[in-house]
Amino acid sequence: MKKVFVKTYGCQMNAYDSVKMTDLLAPLGYAATDAPAGADMVILNTCHIREKAAEKVYSELGKLKQLKRDREGMLIAVAGCVAQAEGEEIVRRAPVVDMVVGPQSYHRLPEMIARAARSQGKAIETDFPALEKFDTLAPPQSSGVSSFLTVQEGCDKFCTFCVVPYTRGAEHSRPAQAILTEACQLVEKGARELVLLGQNVNAYDGDGWSLARLCDALAGIDGLQRIRYTTSHPRDMADDLIVAHGDNPKLMPYLHLPVQSGSDAMLEAMNRQHKADDYRRLVDRIRNARPDIAMTSDFIVGFPGESDADFEATMQLVRDIGYATAFSFKYSKRPGTPASTMRKQVAEDVKAARLDALQKLLLSQQHAFDDSQISKTLPVLFEKTAREAGQLMGRTPYLQPVHVMADAALIGTTANVKIERRTANSLHGVLA
Ligand code: SAM
Ligand code: SF4
Repeated sequence: MKKVFVKTYGCQMNAYDSVKMTDLLAPLGYAATDAPAGADMVILNTCHIREKAAEKVYSELGKLKQLKRDREGMLIAVAGCVAQAEGEEIVRRAPVVDMVVGPQSYHRLPEMIARAARSQGKAIETDFPALEKFDTLAPPQSSGVSSFLTVQEGCDKFCTFCVVPYTRGAEHSRPAQAILTEACQLVEKGARELVLLGQNVNAYDGDGWSLARLCDALAGIDGLQRIRYTTSHPRDMADDLIVAHGDNPKLMPYLHLPVQSGSDAMLEAMNRQHKADDYRRLVDRIRNARPDIAMTSDFIVGFPGESDADFEATMQLVRDIGYATAFSFKYSKRPGTPASTMRKQVAEDVKAARLDALQKLLLSQQHAFDDSQISKTLPVLFEKTAREAGQLMGRTPYLQPVHVMADAALIGTTANVKIERRTANSLHGVLA
């Protein structure tokens, strides 16, 4: 058996793609390994969303150079969004790389490996044959209790700061039947929760099926206990999806709905195509359908032209909404995007101070949300053993990790847990 090591950077979609690439290589005799040393093939599945991510890849490639020298025939592939964006530049900058494969063409890895084995030079595939990819991928070989399932890819929104429309291509939804088939296969392999993935997952349109309709059909799968989806755009939050949060008992009360900024001027400059108050009203409607829903978001601070007042509008939006948790980033210039050449770029120290203030506020909201669960009894889906002996890690409907002393036989099942306390990043409780 040969060994393949896949290192994943970035989003959940990359995590899904890494599993698919590993499954794709199994028939060629490759088994997954968890370290690059001794591997016959190393795949770096990269992310291009922020500047440092690409630099990390080049530094990782520097480290792999020695390993490749020591192991004859070792193949190195760069996959993912850096591969898509940089293409041939990668082999120019890092000749140690044998193949470069974009996120829409990794189903071609087996032929690329064959080509490399025949020493036919570097293989570079950065086409966008999205339809072809899913048709040729192997069925899942295994599954965790919680499993990702890509239902939609690409983006047509062109937010002015973002590289995704350039690296992942146009919005494209997989047919509902193909998704239902893969969902059944994952449940058969042990999945109890499915997290439906898409860059704009709520824009899902599978031959007329909306995401709500897809979730309803998935809810009919015996053995599947929970459904989640990520990431959604405020503009695509359709009425039937909001209703589904009240009606579909398997759809979890958790919604990642990035807003990026609370300032209308910044939202316009970002090309988000909605105002801050539209978002407030949308969240009200979602909370009417599902009052306990945990809201989460992404924020960018220091977008070009962001004034103190713009930043304060973001802080006010956060105070108004009350998030269960959220991600926040300093604006990072991405080559080729409109924002990268905008005037009035914000100074690094201003960005850092704003990020710090925002993160403090978000963390205090996260702690308040977690504390509000203490002494409640919640259904927890157990995913795996925890670090401490005899302890399991599971999640509440709101995606909070919970640690509980419980028999490993409970993994893959849902049990009621009385929440007792919170530590920095998780809850602790006892079986009720
Ligand atoms: N499609 C999702 C949406 O519209 O909200 C998000 C996809 S993106 C992979 C994830 C997050 O990365 C974004 O929500 C944004 O906050 C952040 N991001 C994207 N480009 C960025 C940039 N140039 N600088 C800083 N953060 C960025
Ligand atoms: Fe990027 Fe905007 Fe598309 Fe999200 S909606 S992937 S932030 S361009």
